[in-house]
Amino acid sequence: MLCPALNDLKKIKMEVLNNYINSNWVKSREENTTDVINPATQEVLAKVPRGKGTAADVDQAVAAAAEAFKSWAHVPVMKRVQPLYKLKQLLEDNAEDIARTITEECGKTLGESRGELQRAIENIEVACGTPMLIQSEFSENISSGIDEFMIRQPLGVCGCVSPFNFPGMIPFWFLPYAIACGNTFILKPSEKVPLTMMKVFRLLEQVDLPAGVVNLVHGGKETVDALLDHPQIKAISFVGSSNIARYVYSRGAASGKRVQAQGGAKNPLVILPDADIEMSVKIIADSAYGCAGQRCLAASNIITVADDGNIKDALYESAKKRTTGFGLDESIEMGPVITKESRERVEDLINKGVSEGAKVLLDGRKPAISGFEKGNFIRPTILEGLPLDGELVRTEIFGPVMSLIQLKTVDEALEFINSGKYGNMACLFTSSGANARKFRNLANAGNIGINIGVAAPMAQFPFSGWKESFFGDLHGQSRHAIEFFTQTKVVIERWPKEWSRKF
Ligand code: NAD
Repeated sequence: MLCPALNDLKKIKMEVLNNYINSNWVKSREENTTDVINPATQEVLAKVPRGKGTAADVDQAVAAAAEAFKSWAHVPVMKRVQPLYKLKQLLEDNAEDIARTITEECGKTLGESRGELQRAIENIEVACGTPMLIQSEFSENISSGIDEFMIRQPLGVCGCVSPFNFPGMIPFWFLPYAIACGNTFILKPSEKVPLTMMKVFRLLEQVDLPAGVVNLVHGGKETVDALLDHPQIKAISFVGSSNIARYVYSRGAASGKRVQAQGGAKNPLVILPDADIEMSVKIIADSAYGCAGQRCLAASNIITVADDGNIKDALYESAKKRTTGFGLDESIEMGPVITKESRERVEDLINKGVSEGAKVLLDGRKPAISGFEKGNFIRPTILEGLPLDGELVRTEIFGPVMSLIQLKTVDEALEFINSGKYGNMACLFTSSGANARKFRNLANAGNIGINIGVAAPMAQFPFSGWKESFFGDLHGQSRHAIEFFTQTKVVIERWPKEWSRKF
């Protein structure tokens, strides 16, 4: 059934967004705000509180979450997952409405927004398995009459800071697992795209969670710092750029927290001459230009091995005909980048590539998109001939730009890949099992694709970034999430009765 509460949100457009604390929508203590802007039209969609005053909001949310934890931690796990089943149903019933919001505030196409929500729902489904996943180990008779076992207990109040590029999915890498494990949760969504989670929390309001179990606090850096420093927050889950991930990891750890911080990327895709070229080119173009290149698993460096020109030509043709515009138009294949500053940054990086010696094979800078002249658009762009010892070939662009690199062997490709600072994803396109096996074994990246362009782990697997793409130990999603959101307790137990002493 469609949720009428989501319609109420239309009324709050252009108003300052409220926080959700202790099951109430409450005004922020901060007066200053920043605009939420539709990146295709530049329409101001809402205003988000932003400033030092949000630290008081964090205090209020932590107080509610800490109080809720006292009883939520002891609710049987079978009962703790029941609200998640309801949430899954509500998300499915309202998926179209939420997908439109993702497109409006984030810019991606409607198809991409729908796909993102599907990935969110899959995480809820896996987290519904927490009663099994949280089970632990038991050893009978470690010595006569003595048993030993391990139990997993929740941590307490957990904080989460998410980026702009998947407003509907990324919070679900953490939230369902955290609460199913008995923790309480405070989410700070990206201030650029807060409306999607406003809608999700309108649904969370209806799933019979006790007050304070889930909370939403808006803001930017100041809010993040307050979360990182708060002594009652036990764990932080972060996703964003590498510099901020490193900062969050160090500052959170300095205040004694458990931290998982997923960072940026510069993803290489290698294509061998024995690959199915038609299929590979389509997949590579979707990886490079899907979500306007704003995926942490977007193809960035396309490494052709011994290409006679066919692959390059096919990539060029495919990129040239990709349609760009406002994502609510279902015929559009690529939306804008998130902000004016992002567009300028991406264009500056293309210029930098040129100054380093690259040729712009396809130039997507400053396109004219009829009806959306003010939008943050860049069309698909291809650079060729970037020097391998230059900076751009190692810099995350986060826009619809692919760099073509020609190498002679798979070994050369592996050497190039492994010398980079990121390790989010590496992909190989080939029909050779031996090359595929070598690549998946030797490539230093946490997510590997073989004839796959966006190797995004399903919810039952961890999202395994390496190197500067991840700071921490346990990743988001899957069993890793269960481990991250619980602490182990080992019990050694003796019952000194006559029978126990015998065995
Ligand atoms: P970002 O680092 O700018 O912001 C992420 C979050 O951090 C936001 O909520 C923001 O409010 C907060 N933040 C920003 N600056 C801060 C500061 N100085 N101190 C404390 N908090 C701060 O990232 P973004 O632009 O929103 O997202 C894009 C980045 O996220 C890309 O680098 C992309 O690769 C990365 N990303 C990584 C993954 C992954 O799984 N590894 C997934 C998605 C996105």
